[in-house]
Amino acid sequence: MSVIELTEIIKRYQNGEELIAALKGVDFQANRGEMVTIIGPSGSGKSTMLNMIGLLDTPTEGTVRLDSRDVTDFSEDELTEERRTAIGFVFQDFHLLPMLTATENVELPSMWDTGVDRRDRAVDLLQRVGLGDRLDHTPDQLSGGQRQRVAIARALINEPEILLADEPTGNLDQDTGATILDELTRLKEDEDIAIVSVTHDEQLVEYADRVVRLVDGEIQ
Ligand code: ADP
Ligand code: ADP
Repeated sequence: MSVIELTEIIKRYQNGEELIAALKGVDFQANRGEMVTIIGPSGSGKSTMLNMIGLLDTPTEGTVRLDSRDVTDFSEDELTEERRTAIGFVFQDFHLLPMLTATENVELPSMWDTGVDRRDRAVDLLQRVGLGDRLDHTPDQLSGGQRQRVAIARALINEPEILLADEPTGNLDQDTGATILDELTRLKEDEDIAIVSVTHDEQLVEYADRVVRLVDGEIQ
């Protein structure tokens, strides 16, 4: 069963007088235990698609289903709630808070989103990504790859069904990128989540169970 399903998605943006179609009838789905990589050149609609899958924006036409539930017409507040419980986000530039330790960064979304302190799970996740000896380090005391592993642990703290990764290897060298992708592959299976990554890095294709190529707002 797909955790997220987009059907015939059209997204248009009004740009002054001009109407731009960023997505022109896109179908997409991702299942638990699967890594799907969306790849395409700049301007092909990747960010727009990430925003649809992450419930960060709504389509002009088409249907978005989360766990078979139609969430297309959900209000902003309802979408925020779904996002908090179902989706974890990982970014190219890590987005860690510099004054917090690794553990504090990881537990932060659980405090904010559910009010529950999940320190035990935070420590467990950090151990599982190989940072058991870096729990009290702040981001400036960690390498790029270690920072991204903290960010991945943070994205998983609320037990999401989908991990959405926006250029997860974008700021890392090739070898470090490969270790991050190995890590994601392992977590995908252990946590039984769908991982959807958006990238222009062909390295991610090797790790994908499925590749979606976007060109000019359409899937090739
Ligand atoms: P990518 O992430 O692949 O670079 P985007 O999804 O950002 O592609 O953009 C797809 C198209 O939609 C581009 O032509 C872009 O200029 C346009 N676009 C994206 N966001 C907006 C916006 N908020 N307003 C107007 N046009 C936009
Ligand atoms: P850009 O939109 O310039 O590519 P990012 O890669 O940082 O910037 O973000 C990708 C998308 O994720 C954006 O649409 C942004 O609004 C959204 N986003 C950024 N930070 C968060 C966050 N903390 N939680 C949820 N969504 C976020």
